[in-house]
Amino acid sequence: MSKTLKFAVLPGDGIGPEVMNVALKVLEAATKPSGITLEYESADVGGIAIDNHGVALPDSTLDVCKASDAILFGSVGGPKWENLPPKEQPERAALLPIRKAFSLFANVRPGLLFKELVDASPLKTERIPDGIDIVCIRELTGGIYFGQPKETRELENGELEAIDTMVYKTSEIERIAEVAAQTALGRGKRVCSVDKANVLETSVLWRKTVTAFFEEKYPELELSHMYVDNAAMQLARDPNQFDVLFTENMFGDILSDEMAVICGSMGMMSSASLGTAKNGHGQPFGLYEPAGGTAPDIAGQGVANPCAQVLSGAMMLRFSFGLGDIADRIEAAIKSAVQNDIRTGDIAFGKKAIGTEAMCDAIIERL
Ligand code: ATP
Ligand code: MG
Repeated sequence: MSKTLKFAVLPGDGIGPEVMNVALKVLEAATKPSGITLEYESADVGGIAIDNHGVALPDSTLDVCKASDAILFGSVGGPKWENLPPKEQPERAALLPIRKAFSLFANVRPGLLFKELVDASPLKTERIPDGIDIVCIRELTGGIYFGQPKETRELENGELEAIDTMVYKTSEIERIAEVAAQTALGRGKRVCSVDKANVLETSVLWRKTVTAFFEEKYPELELSHMYVDNAAMQLARDPNQFDVLFTENMFGDILSDEMAVICGSMGMMSSASLGTAKNGHGQPFGLYEPAGGTAPDIAGQGVANPCAQVLSGAMMLRFSFGLGDIADRIEAAIKSAVQNDIRTGDIAFGKKAIGTEAMCDAIIERL
């Protein structure tokens, strides 16, 4: 089999370039035995793009993305660009336009905490004896963050009034339900849909649409519903009761951060944002990035944990290139390294800490 994977590499700022370098080496090593060629093109994004081109997302970078089947993204921003106006801030000026350009409507975040790392979680370790293994899927382009009208207006008595609007169409609900179903098929076959159907009209439609969708298309999956307030409690109480949970934009924004914190180190958390378009491999076009940021406090020191970036690369293989078996091997290699106490500082807990490059070698050795 000879297959070429064409993807855009946008390392960005801070620890971005350091951990991206590791991700590319691991992807190279993991795919080579299968005769797969990586054909990636790197481009500036974020603060470095502001310095080099005057804007956080140059047209030339967007063109590189458009010519690719997926985007492997580092992270953007940092103290140097903090004083720019909000609209020009690297995160907002780079990520939002990319999401828009590729209609990235589904954010998939694994909540993965290895058994060996339960100390990293603020939860009591006896509540998660085997670690955590769930997935949170957030709708990314609809709901109250984008609904119109969205404005502040002056009332007749001079008082100000602000309005945000929560809107969802059945087609938007069905496409995110499809991502949740596909994710659950490759895992524990259980899906929990999170809403607030006791109060919100959009949630009533959400629940009705989701129920009908799973009855018709995925009767083999176990579907449950939960109100978002309860879901927030249940996540902190017993996260492993979930397999795949999925929800609308604002609820997902909040729940996915809650999930990230109960899963411990930012240095281990990956994410995928999937689009409506299919790429040249007949798979969803997607953007893959660590859940953490640029970690300015440790940037340039060679100590960042590259695992989140490597795991993001593995997600890219799984979702955008249909190479789930190679993704599994990369995940297993990372797990094996951690099990053998090969760890960067953020997850060392008093054990010996190694640097970014040494972690890279340890992962590749175990592939
Ligand atoms: P940003 O604005 O880019 O999000 P931040 O200051 O919020 O930057 P984060 O990157 O979100 O910083 O990181 C939060 C904390 O987690 C920092 O102390 C950082 O060092 C740590 N951290 C994040 N990613 C990693 C990583 N890959 N390896 C080690 N530590 C990390
Ligand atoms: Mg941050």
